[in-house]
Amino acid sequence: MTRTPPTSAPRVKPTVARTRGGLARTLAPLRARGSLALVPTMGALHDGHRSLIRTARRLADHVVVSIFVNPLQFGPGEDFQRYRRPFAADLAVCREERVAVVFAPGTEVLYRSAPPQVTVAAGRLGSVLEGASRPGHFSGVLTVVTKLFHLVGPDLAVFGEKDAQQLVLVRRLVHDLDLPVHVVGSPTVRDPDGLALSSRNSYLTPAERTRALVLSRALSSGAAAAHGGPDAVRAAARHELTAEPEVRVDYLALVDPEQLTPVADHHVGPALLAVAAYVGSTRLIDNVTLTLPGRPA
Ligand code: AMP
Repeated sequence: MTRTPPTSAPRVKPTVARTRGGLARTLAPLRARGSLALVPTMGALHDGHRSLIRTARRLADHVVVSIFVNPLQFGPGEDFQRYRRPFAADLAVCREERVAVVFAPGTEVLYRSAPPQVTVAAGRLGSVLEGASRPGHFSGVLTVVTKLFHLVGPDLAVFGEKDAQQLVLVRRLVHDLDLPVHVVGSPTVRDPDGLALSSRNSYLTPAERTRALVLSRALSSGAAAAHGGPDAVRAAARHELTAEPEVRVDYLALVDPEQLTPVADHHVGPALLAVAAYVGSTRLIDNVTLTLPGRPA
């Protein structure tokens, strides 16, 4: 996607809210004048986030971007401390994209003095794939998303298909707990060579970035083999991944896109091909949705 900001309306600095009270005061007049869309992020904004903001702007009158590196969704030894927090640059992106409000609370604001005792359980969907490798991750995600929904009260919220399992779980959260928010998925934005944009790509050395391309290559090979059925998809993707021995695969899975259960041999219809792998010490994820056509009669 292009980095050129849209030009049709004047770009006004977003209002930055850091507290519950500040957020409520900022949102009240906006809510009275139209619909609100929320784009939850952890900052270090890139063109993937811009694309979500543009989706939000198409669908609502005012866009709220939250920027919060949520400690609850990081495991011990993960990159919570070193996660990039380039707030001034993020604010410039939000201004270019005509975001109305940036909600950027500190941890002490969002979680007050201590981690919450009551959290959202992610259930079976939160214990497979990413959840198997990152125990507690999705409970942390769903807990903060629930809080953000309550604090912002958006009509709709936009999440990236890049984090496919997160999107599935947020949809389940809204459905199962009757939250009054419409959840919108937005397609994965990639660099021209196929690498899915991610704030964590900045950890990669140039050589690692080249190696990381094997993830999107594997997904493309898998998708191209869909006519051959699930085994062919998995084999094609696996073949591509093994050609890059310095990339350590955490999982490669072909699953039902809503239930996240492995697809059966005879599966027909949409399926999610998901991969997680370490490139050096950086853990990357990517996915593609493909259609298994079934065997001709
Ligand atoms: P993060 O800041 O990484 O927590 O991501 C915030 C939101 O941006 C999530 O809904 C992600 O799925 C989404 N996102 C991250 N990378 C991309 C991308 N390359 N394309 C589209 N959405 C993305």
